[in-house]
Amino acid sequence: MNLSAPHPGPAAPGCADHPPHLVPERTRCLEGLHRDIIECDRCPRLRTYCAEVGQTRVRRYRDQEYWARPVPGFGDPEARLFILGLAPGAHGANRTGRMFTGDDSGRWLYGALYEFGFADRPESVSRDDGLTLTDAYISNVVRCAPPGNKPSPGEIAACRPFLEAELAMLTRVRVVLALGRIAFDTYVRLRRAQGFDPGRIDFRHGAEYRIPGLPVLLSSYHPSRQNTNTGVLTAPMWREIFARARALLDEPS
Ligand code: SF4
Repeated sequence: MNLSAPHPGPAAPGCADHPPHLVPERTRCLEGLHRDIIECDRCPRLRTYCAEVGQTRVRRYRDQEYWARPVPGFGDPEARLFILGLAPGAHGANRTGRMFTGDDSGRWLYGALYEFGFADRPESVSRDDGLTLTDAYISNVVRCAPPGNKPSPGEIAACRPFLEAELAMLTRVRVVLALGRIAFDTYVRLRRAQGFDPGRIDFRHGAEYRIPGLPVLLSSYHPSRQNTNTGVLTAPMWREIFARARALLDEPS
């Protein structure tokens, strides 16, 4: 099963395995968490911006109705690979309603996920295009598109309980891939707050960290156009990250 679009019904029952003390509000399972995310309005600046972008649109998408709400995580509830990006793109996920769907960053991400056997197709076009992820789950530091792709520290903190809840529910995760410094720092800060000791670690493309009691942490430059158009992140560099993630998952546990 893949989780992507809003869950229209009541929160699914029978999620007693998920630790309630880590889960915000009424959320007790991924479906309920996704619903809480979609309804969230903790960050007025971001909610206003997403709605405005959805109203004004850009010429190439002017005939489309934008999602313009918080974007929940997407992927396999049994995932062993957890990918953490920064935020929905204003005309990408904020338009389509699915993580990394409908923009250049998504083309890089889903292309790699397909190549390494985590996705059943290389392109992610819309949230109802039928794409399925296997063994991978995609999330973001904030679930609302920020102006200039820059969420404030307060907005990152406001959204962190959703990340914490996801990580608590995705109990099979063995590799966390942080895309960019903000994703890396947010993840490390969360784990420190939970009492883990990552030691002295810093963001670096291609770095691999083993923190006692936690999944292996990989870090990569974010596949934003700013990085991919300038050669900061090249296709071979990107491919290497996913080859390493795949190799880690293929290691006997
Ligand atoms: S960024 Fe996160 S906390 Fe802020 S409004 Fe969106 S979903 Fe809510």
